[in-house]
Amino acid sequence: MIMVSSCLAGMKVRYNGTDCLEESLMSLLDSGKAIAVCPELLGGFSTPREPAEIIGGTGEDVLNGKARVIDRSGNDVTGMYLKGAHVTLEKAREFGAATVVLKQNSPSCGSTMIYNGEFSGRKIPGEGVTAALLRKNGIEVISEDELAARLEEFRLP
Ligand code: SF4
Repeated sequence: MIMVSSCLAGMKVRYNGTDCLEESLMSLLDSGKAIAVCPELLGGFSTPREPAEIIGGTGEDVLNGKARVIDRSGNDVTGMYLKGAHVTLEKAREFGAATVVLKQNSPSCGSTMIYNGEFSGRKIPGEGVTAALLRKNGIEVISEDELAARLEEFRLP
């Protein structure tokens, strides 16, 4: 069993009401080998919502209280990001997901790159809050960029 970002599963849950469908995931979802989660919805957000970015660090820094997640209007939404990350971790444990495929660049789901906190479109190396918490708890996190190389493995019974 793997877990995947809901937006990669074609659900229109991104901040702007769009998805980022990865067609290759559909057979895994249809056969029950993958389940979809959106950490931001689990944290209490709805769609559409304001975009947010991590200010002053990365997801790991947010977990350590050294950085915050702020939306474009300047509201501190760190608590909702942390809640979404913890509920996602609970779900990964509940479903026995050893690997989670998360959407790159998101302040929740980014696994190697995130936006730099200036709402300028520039990215920096780093993880989102959920990716950091999952890894800290021994769960493998990959992005959609690594999916093709792992698909056969995920299709195994
Ligand atoms: Fe997709 Fe993750 Fe953003 Fe939800 S939090 S919309 S799953 S990138």
